Amino acid sequence: MDPLFKEEMLDNIKRDRYFQAFESLKAKLEEKDTYSLYTEWWETKTKEESEVLDKAYDYEEEYFSDLRLIDYKDELFAVKIFDDKEFIDSFEGEDILYKLTIDDGWRFKLVDYDDETCGGLTSYTEKLVEISNTYNNKDTLLHEMIHVYELILKSYQLDDFVLLKLYDELLPKVKNLKNLINLDKHIAFKEHSLLFILKSIKLDLELGYNLGTIYAYGREDLYADNLI
Ligand SMILES: [Zn+2]
Repeated sequence: MDPLFKEEMLDNIKRDRYFQAFESLKAKLEEKDTYSLYTEWWETKTKEESEVLDKAYDYEEEYFSDLRLIDYKDELFAVKIFDDKEFIDSFEGEDILYKLTIDDGWRFKLVDYDDETCGGLTSYTEKLVEISNTYNNKDTLLHEMIHVYELILKSYQLDDFVLLKLYDELLPKVKNLKNLINLDKHIAFKEHSLLFILKSIKLDLELGYNLGTIYAYGREDLYADNLI
């Protein structure tokens, strides 16, 4: 079984999200490929969902060149090829860059959750981002978009690489960064990866937000208490 699918199923079951687990399994069993899911969604999406998609495209351009590996392109992919007595610069493995975009069939749905504290959910296997109608705003969309790219990076085992890049970048900029990271080391907070935490902090800095805003789930207050 696809390890990411298995992980997603177990995660849903662990968090009592039986309906989501059922839906993912149903999609898997029906072998509904993501392309047909996308076509179906494209034909039925609401005006608000189209707006969310447009915003996601804008944010992708503006805020995610790091998670999309564009910032590290030369370092990751540049290889010199010796061809006919000449060295030619070439890029190997650039295919990954075409996967690291929401333009690769990702769908955005606006939903009503019973749990009012949940702003959204991202499914890698279904290429689906759900945003709660209550939390249909920039911060929630950016939060879910971090999940999108981290899951794709994970599937290519490149999440660790970006994690170290973000850590190096943020360490001189955020006083007590390690304290903030340590707040999430408890197993109960396992929902958000270290890569997620660092990218959310980086976005907070870029947007002039209080640290913890993009992460949400009370992190703004928690971080404020631990910055000193
Ligand atoms: Zn999240």
